[in-house]
Amino acid sequence: MGTAIHDEVSQNGSYSSAVGGGSPKTSFGSPRAAAIAAVTNYKPSAPPMNFRDTPTGELFNCNVFSPAVMKKRLPKPVYKALMRTIESGDKLDSSVADVVASAMKDWAIEKGATHYAHVFYPLTGLTAEKHDSFLTPDGEGGAIAEFSGKQLIQGEPDGSSFPTGGIRVTFEARGYTIWDVTSPAYILENDNGTTLCIPTAFVSWTGEALDKKTPVLRSMQALNTQAQRVLKLFGHTDGALVSSTAGPEQEYFLVDRNFYYARPDLVNAGRTLFGAKPPKGQEFDDHYFGAIPDRVLAFMLECERELFKLGIPVKTRHNEVAPGQYEVAPMFEFANLATDHQQLLMTTLKRVAEKYGMVCLTHEKPFAGVNGSGKHVNWSMGSASQGNLLDPGDTPHDNAQFLLICAAVIRAVHKYQGLLRSVVASASNDHRLGANEAPPAIISVFLGDQLTDVFEQIKGGGANSSIPKGTLTVGVDVLPPLPKDAGDRNRTSPFAFTGNRFEFRAVGANQSIAGPLVAMNTIIAESLDFCATRLEETIGGDPDKLHGELQKLLTEIMTDHGAIIFNGDGYSEAWHAEAAERGLLNLKTTADALPVLETEEVKELFTKYSVLSERELESRLETYLEQYCMSVGVEANLTIEMAKTMIFPAAIRYQNELAATCANLKLLGYTFDTNSLDAVTDLVKNLQDSIADLEGAVAEPESDDLMAEARHCCDEVLPAMLKVRTYADALEGWVADDLWPLPTYQEMLFIK
Ligand code: ADP
Ligand code: MG
Repeated sequence: MGTAIHDEVSQNGSYSSAVGGGSPKTSFGSPRAAAIAAVTNYKPSAPPMNFRDTPTGELFNCNVFSPAVMKKRLPKPVYKALMRTIESGDKLDSSVADVVASAMKDWAIEKGATHYAHVFYPLTGLTAEKHDSFLTPDGEGGAIAEFSGKQLIQGEPDGSSFPTGGIRVTFEARGYTIWDVTSPAYILENDNGTTLCIPTAFVSWTGEALDKKTPVLRSMQALNTQAQRVLKLFGHTDGALVSSTAGPEQEYFLVDRNFYYARPDLVNAGRTLFGAKPPKGQEFDDHYFGAIPDRVLAFMLECERELFKLGIPVKTRHNEVAPGQYEVAPMFEFANLATDHQQLLMTTLKRVAEKYGMVCLTHEKPFAGVNGSGKHVNWSMGSASQGNLLDPGDTPHDNAQFLLICAAVIRAVHKYQGLLRSVVASASNDHRLGANEAPPAIISVFLGDQLTDVFEQIKGGGANSSIPKGTLTVGVDVLPPLPKDAGDRNRTSPFAFTGNRFEFRAVGANQSIAGPLVAMNTIIAESLDFCATRLEETIGGDPDKLHGELQKLLTEIMTDHGAIIFNGDGYSEAWHAEAAERGLLNLKTTADALPVLETEEVKELFTKYSVLSERELESRLETYLEQYCMSVGVEANLTIEMAKTMIFPAAIRYQNELAATCANLKLLGYTFDTNSLDAVTDLVKNLQDSIADLEGAVAEPESDDLMAEARHCCDEVLPAMLKVRTYADALEGWVADDLWPLPTYQEMLFIK
């Protein structure tokens, strides 16, 4: 079964040969000609995915060491012990490791695997893998395939080059990867072989987290502990594990790879550092939910098949707002698994796009002037016995448990708005947040009409009604009436209640969702702790007092924290003024937002719930500052290089042509208007000056203080880069098209 699918996949490489064997410029001269040929000559060559020949049950999870596989292959007590850890969060009994490793190896070898890899998630936000072969010489000239429990549980990559923000120095570089049983092992396919991948946590020799996964697991544990206390107040004492759930919606761009390789900025920075706005942008909104282009749809189908095989439940696909922009959204899963799956989804998008002669860009703002890409993280919490704890039911006003949990979220977002802003802070996401297309950098909560009304009533002393949901009728007899949602949507809110979950929309497309989930889980754990502590005290074991005391608590929360609720237009100028009046933070850039991680409040939060120690938090801050400065630094140097070696030469060639024309005409006795020459000459001069300014800003001695360095990048380097761009983009509007060295926005966005 697995092999059949694998064969189909490997046949699918034929597309790349259609555009000249992968080299962008081989037979078509210019990237432009090659890209046009790639689109017009495109013929789908992969065998189609269908559920007739490969039934859903055979396709989904077929490359995963899933509970079903474990049940079949493991002794019953071992299987049960593992499931208790996975489903109830029980301590893992490591004595089962040898048995599991042996079964896993047999299964993987049946799937064609020769190697196993511990997969981990360093602070770069990327995915790292260390591969080891099963093959072990037997000492007598032969070899056996070996995989022990110890090898399953623990690895030791020499990860001394991963950023650790000072936790490890290179001479004490030991770092361990530790098997995370709650995220199942899977098979990664390649045309030449397959690898057994084992998701792991990555920690230092001293047990400190060096990765994104460890704090996710810790924060889920903290959330469960506090949620149990709240549930107990409402009489639910079964102890069923409360897990946070996440459904991340991934936006991305696809560009023809011929253009990609002709743009050093896309290759090295993931975004365009130059490019004039095309005559037609996204103003017609004709791309949004439009028919998906053939080549793109073929790519999506293959991606989906690959993701299904890995057990990633992708559900939705559509065109996004910007031309060349798309979205894929999976169904929600437990937060930890969703995080690993999200990483795998990003790598799969990139890997498969290459096969179709395209490159997938997950940068938050690859193109100025058109929408950027976000990754809305839908978040909720629930348990096997209680279901979704953020489901309000039809009459939220009398759903006390829901109201308490929802109020706890509102309190958490208000109290830790700075933290929520800082966990989505990056050099790339800065170009998106607040650009009137993505939520503003001001964090607020959208509740919708029904819940806002209920909480208003609570603030006024008590809620006794809920606006009914009603029925949607369209006035056409052939269309059925629909039950109407309780509230409309709001696309401009960074943190929106969407019926039975919250949607954190400020998260960037290129980010790991781990940081945002850690923040959400922990701040809500803190809020639930606050609520439970208060109610436990005031009720004193008398359940009859619950509703009275709850009412008081809810009123207090809404009075103290209601300022975070905003249902209006987050893009408007008026909101910025109002938010300031309400005392809400407006941390516009990464340099403004990251210092929040140093505040006492945030340190206390993470240490209290054992999610991040002070040292771990400090190391994260240092790493993120470093990454910010490095990203800006690379972009600045690229800007200088491209401006000097590509744009300036094109500009002076054209200037020379203009000048020659003027001189010749003058010789012939014509009067010639020199406006064009004057304009180009001005721009060339300004371009030169602005390059010199940028070089000056970059050359300033690096400060030891990373925070000061980040401020310098933000206040000096980025504006200087933008100035170079302004003149370069203006020149693009003058210079002869055949001399312009870079694929244009028009080409990159509209040829697909
Ligand atoms: P939209 O674009 O309208 O916001 P989508 O259907 O694209 O909606 O995405 C909704 C996402 O929310 C999906 O990933 C879905 O699985 C997720 N979701 C639904 N319920 C929950 C929940 N209880 N917890 C977390 N995520 C959820
Ligand atoms: Mg959404």
